[in-house]
Amino acid sequence: MLAFYSENTEPDHVDFAKDALKFLSQLAASEQFTLETTSKWDDLNSERLKNCQLVIWLNESPTNAEQRRAFERYMEHGGAWLGFHAAAYNDKDTKWPWFVDFLGGAVFETNSWPPLPAHLIVDDPVHPVTVKVPRSFESPANEWYVWNPSPRLNKDVRVLVTLDPSNYPIGLKDVLTSGDLPVVWTNTKYKMLYMNMGHGDKIFTSPVQNQLIDSAVNWLGIGAAPSEGTAANGIRATPNGIRINPNGIALNPETGKFYAVNTTKEIVNVLDGDGGLLRRVRVGKEPESIAINGVTNRIYVANGNSASVTVIDGETDKVIANVPVGDLPYSIAVNQAMNKVYVSRTFSDVTTVIDGQTNIATPLKVGAGDAVAEASLEGGTYFINYESPQITVLDGTSDHVSKIKVPTHLWAIAANPANKKIYAASVGNGTVTVIDGKSLTSKVANVGKLPCAIALDSSSAAVFVANYGSHNVSVIDGNTNLVVTTVNAGPNPQAIAVDSGNHRVFVANTHAGTVTVLDGTNKTVVGSVRTGEGPFAIAVNSKTHKAVTLGLKGDLSVIDGTTLAKWSVLGPQSK
Ligand code: ZN
Repeated sequence: MLAFYSENTEPDHVDFAKDALKFLSQLAASEQFTLETTSKWDDLNSERLKNCQLVIWLNESPTNAEQRRAFERYMEHGGAWLGFHAAAYNDKDTKWPWFVDFLGGAVFETNSWPPLPAHLIVDDPVHPVTVKVPRSFESPANEWYVWNPSPRLNKDVRVLVTLDPSNYPIGLKDVLTSGDLPVVWTNTKYKMLYMNMGHGDKIFTSPVQNQLIDSAVNWLGIGAAPSEGTAANGIRATPNGIRINPNGIALNPETGKFYAVNTTKEIVNVLDGDGGLLRRVRVGKEPESIAINGVTNRIYVANGNSASVTVIDGETDKVIANVPVGDLPYSIAVNQAMNKVYVSRTFSDVTTVIDGQTNIATPLKVGAGDAVAEASLEGGTYFINYESPQITVLDGTSDHVSKIKVPTHLWAIAANPANKKIYAASVGNGTVTVIDGKSLTSKVANVGKLPCAIALDSSSAAVFVANYGSHNVSVIDGNTNLVVTTVNAGPNPQAIAVDSGNHRVFVANTHAGTVTVLDGTNKTVVGSVRTGEGPFAIAVNSKTHKAVTLGLKGDLSVIDGTTLAKWSVLGPQSK
């Protein structure tokens, strides 16, 4: 067997390849086959492939025409191929029609983000690849690819494993909400198998999935004939997706008003402090996140699909400017002390700085990566991104940039102006890093699985961390930096907010369509309230004690934190 891998690609794809090489060499030792590995695509030539029983691509595919032709000849003459994750990635720039046919017509369209575990269903339990695994199993955290066209449309394709629709909605930024997502398949015209697994360092943590990969290697490597026939799966719908941000709803602490995006309707709904609808403001395409400067009473809305930020005057709730900021603005934060707005863009390393006085935007090469969240504290703004093990600190006065080393795969950040501490949660390793905003020293606290949201009680300094993977909330003492207790929430809590007026904590359980309300003082559950579908963002007014959730269909639910009464302001069908 000959395995190709690259060390010059996405770090998470390199991590996977390293783990895969370890797994495959153990398999080779115990099952007596020879494994050769290479990171040189030049090795994809007829001479080298002549004696190969199985070619494996771990994290890349060849771009050179000669290498591609050698692979085509190898496969057309009975060769065998196993491809993982990014090895099958192809888009309009790939320009290799043979390979798309070989995959069964599958073209990459989009993906869920960040990597999360998922339940998978075995479509074909008698196939040699799946016969030793249960009919359904939990697959470790992975980036799930959506294919359009789907390989299932091809009569020669046999889909062996599919994402269980019970996973929907899946994602914290790029969310898949419905549809058919084949994960493992074979094109029966070839001895080939594609597996979508392959993003990050968790892939080989499931014995069941390891068995699936073991069986795949054996089925292909031992020279089994291509599968026969086709699975009668029929045509199913392509997955639907939406991009979300936990700051899709925000409170203006000065006026007490709530501002919430409706991504598909291109509007921001303005609610009064009790959750009554005041106004709808037309903004740009796919508004995703909101930041508010309470001092100047300006509301900033990042429009994901119109490369702009809409500025709303909070006095009149009318649009006063549309500021061009570059493609795909995603996260946004206001630095009140500096009267500056910082906008991070998906797939971009450049931060856009909007001057709050003039509404003029300037690009600044901060090097914060593909930042997913940011928070400001006094003169500084702190950026996190999933891919790099660092927090990027931008000084608002000098534009000086510094980095703080932290565990990788950060997802959430919060700042406490009272004690000048910054909290950053890593979904990758289940920790929260506490940073002293003055000395920039840090300390790490272990929390639950996949901590993805943080909120703090500004009056008690307690910090509440929603653990998506362990369905609970870790409570950190703001003075000692220690986890003092863990409180159960509902399934997959994804957003959290604290009413510092009465110490109530609101935890949005996106999968269940519920909010768990906690007593932040006694750290106990007070109750659970049903909301609209898929609440993923939440804000609370600490004077009226009303919390408002924003759901995946743009619906808003108001919860009275005192009585736990709930009412809906806008259903998904509201215009
Ligand atoms: Zn990936």
